[in-house]
Amino acid sequence: MKMTSIKAIKLMTMALLLCAFIMPQNSFAQRKKKRKKDKTEAAAPTPAKKKEKSIKDLTKSSKKIDGLFTIYQDTITGTMHMIVKEDQIGKEYIYFSQVSNGSTDAGLFRGAYGGSKVFKVNKNFNKLEFEGQNTSFYFDENNAISRSKDANVTNGKMASIKVEAHDEKTGEYLIKADDIFLKETLRQLKRPRFPGQSPFAFSLGNLDKNKTTVKTINNYEDNTNLEVEYVYSKPSVLNGGSAAIADGRNVSVQVFHSFIAMPDNDYEIRLDDPRVGYFTTQVEDQTATNSTPFRDLVHRWNLKKKDPNAAISEPVKPITWWMENSTPVEWRETIKQGVLEWNKAFEKAGFKNAMVVKMQPDDATWDAGDINYNVLRWTSSPNPPFGGYGPSFVNPKTGEIMGADIMLEYVHFTNRVMYDKLFDLSAKPKAFDPSEFLRENKVFCSMGHVMHENTMFGQAVLEVAGADDLEMARMKKEAMLALIMHEVGHTLGLNHNMKASQLFSPEQLADADFIEGKCLTGSVMDYAGINLTLDRSKQGQYYDTSVGPYDVWAIQFGYTPFKTGAEKEALLSQSTKPELIFGNDADDMRAPGKAIDPRVMIGDLSNDQIGYSIDRFKLVDQMMGNIKTKFAKRGESFQEMRRAYYILSGQRATAGNVISRFIGGVYVDRAMVGQPGATKPYTPVSLEDQKRAMDALKTYVFAPDAFDAPNDLYNYLAMQRRGYNFFGGPEDPKIHNQVLNYQRGVLIHILHPNTLQRITDSELYGNKYKLSSFMTDLNNAIFKADIYGNVNSFRQNLQLEYTNMLIDMLTGKQSGRFTNNAKSMALYNLKNIRTMAAPTGDVSSKAHKQHLRTLIDNALKEVK
Ligand SMILES: [Zn+2]
Repeated sequence: MKMTSIKAIKLMTMALLLCAFIMPQNSFAQRKKKRKKDKTEAAAPTPAKKKEKSIKDLTKSSKKIDGLFTIYQDTITGTMHMIVKEDQIGKEYIYFSQVSNGSTDAGLFRGAYGGSKVFKVNKNFNKLEFEGQNTSFYFDENNAISRSKDANVTNGKMASIKVEAHDEKTGEYLIKADDIFLKETLRQLKRPRFPGQSPFAFSLGNLDKNKTTVKTINNYEDNTNLEVEYVYSKPSVLNGGSAAIADGRNVSVQVFHSFIAMPDNDYEIRLDDPRVGYFTTQVEDQTATNSTPFRDLVHRWNLKKKDPNAAISEPVKPITWWMENSTPVEWRETIKQGVLEWNKAFEKAGFKNAMVVKMQPDDATWDAGDINYNVLRWTSSPNPPFGGYGPSFVNPKTGEIMGADIMLEYVHFTNRVMYDKLFDLSAKPKAFDPSEFLRENKVFCSMGHVMHENTMFGQAVLEVAGADDLEMARMKKEAMLALIMHEVGHTLGLNHNMKASQLFSPEQLADADFIEGKCLTGSVMDYAGINLTLDRSKQGQYYDTSVGPYDVWAIQFGYTPFKTGAEKEALLSQSTKPELIFGNDADDMRAPGKAIDPRVMIGDLSNDQIGYSIDRFKLVDQMMGNIKTKFAKRGESFQEMRRAYYILSGQRATAGNVISRFIGGVYVDRAMVGQPGATKPYTPVSLEDQKRAMDALKTYVFAPDAFDAPNDLYNYLAMQRRGYNFFGGPEDPKIHNQVLNYQRGVLIHILHPNTLQRITDSELYGNKYKLSSFMTDLNNAIFKADIYGNVNSFRQNLQLEYTNMLIDMLTGKQSGRFTNNAKSMALYNLKNIRTMAAPTGDVSSKAHKQHLRTLIDNALKEVK
């Protein structure tokens, strides 16, 4: 009762306060209205019709900027008008945008591309309408059904703007342009709030019309470009964002908008094929009758031979890259080399000097954001979202790439940790979330992140191994070359090929002469692990230094001017060659429970991923003992040593994940029916390899001594103090938590409902490692070594976590996702654990075993 009355008083007080604010405003508004009315009455006797103003009248204080759509900008107020000519009405144009500057907090960072779309300007009475066009469907015009092609397809009217003046002589319409460009009319910038998102998450305020302005206007014959600074304001903020944001109440995002004339050229569309990995624009053929009515447009440049009859010819217009003048001087030559490596692939497609690199002069008058230039850009920004990013934009009607940039982050070659994930010991490995994948990964490239982690590991190993400066410099140069080739590959239309790292055997990778000058994988479009040999005397190349066989083949598919369909088919039919295998992000197994083919993995290397990963565990063990002497430097804090410890440990986690994907794995072959060399589309991993993977997990991930590090290391894993930054939480190393997270990462995959379901299903088509055998082996791997005696603190942690996972399979919130077979095995294992866990050993072990028994006893009561 008391609570209620306090609440009531509070509400009443609020209501009164609200009234106090509203009342005077209301009376003020009424007074204002009255004054206005008086004025109108006074002016009533002069009804004369105003003379319509001409374009000249309306733009007399404006500067005229001629181009595709001529813009007038008022020299006093900055207000803009735009001309649309009569012959532009009803025509198609392309709209494209990119962020020229922003903040990663808002998810809008320099160089981030928005998609391109087609739009038309239509006239509707006295208004001009900007209407987006739906380009997702194709109709064969000869089919009568094409007359109904508009059925149930919406376009999207972005703006409807009043014509201010019309000049019949020149055929020009003048409209106000501020509403098109100074609002989110063309592109949504502010992210919506996702359901369940924390209210404490950073968010932009409301678009502040008053502060939003146009920064630059660049007009060309074929494109009109405006750079706009959007300001988002709010009076108070809960989360002011990172240090990159000076004032969380006022956040700016600058965006380039481009209106581009629809290319009128001889570009030939090329349709996608599932065996090669190109970015595409998906188009559905609505008049086709088969089950694959796909007319997906491959993204590629319009390369035409100067001499169409020559086997190899220079292109009429090469793909020209400009290196931004902010590029560190010492890297310029390597970057150029990385771009030009692709010419080797283009030569096999019939083109000489397809790629050209030029240097942006220090006094250039053009900006790197100008769509008329493809720029290799370089920044050193706070919280970089990538180490490299290679976006391109296309004509949505044809797939022709019309422009591209590559963004590179300086952090890539520093020891600065690019992202905290590696060190965030509280972060649990997450199950796969497709929406997140589509949002974050589809067009983004995390090659830079992977490469950065690789390179930090390489540096740690080289440092411990006592490599000289020259060797260190060589490793970094190779890393840069590999990164550039990868990002350039994206701008040529290629998506990732996470299957490519199968090219060589571990022995070949440890043969310095054999691999020299080669791509260590089938494709630079993989995220492979760094090549580090366990036997340090055998160390050769660390990274890809040339494009791979798959890259050459893919460029041939995308760019060869095929004379016949048979010629193209002959090329595609080679897809079954081991060096040409392909699988992209959608097929890769980086997230637990996602995808099925263990070869399509990141951070792996060689055609014996299990053996290579075991070597990686051994290499880390070798190095771990020496990091204290190598990284603790007199006069410096222990930060570098701490970093080396976590980098080395992280490699163990990666190796464990690579191995775990073989359990329940199924190899995929996307060859067409009857293609020479094709295997069945689905072939389960052999019993031998699954058993081998299980044994490796038992020894290197689950064993009582799996994560042993020299105990005296732990006393030194200290961060350097900075201000009050330890307020976030206690600074001591959370070692048990860290180890358990690595182990949990593996368990989440092998006990994922998808994996368990696949093990049972694939028993029907060749899998010999039965669910019952696998789950028994796993139970033994986690308990057999120590359950009858003393159990150390790492193993206690693991055993409890695993037992809880089995219980969750039966009674947890997600239990409905598990098959009955899997649940039965979980129950069987729990009963076994209960029997094994008789309270023996030291006090700690007894307590642990009693804990296990109590958990199981309680859980069994709930099993229905
Ligand atoms: Zn990439």
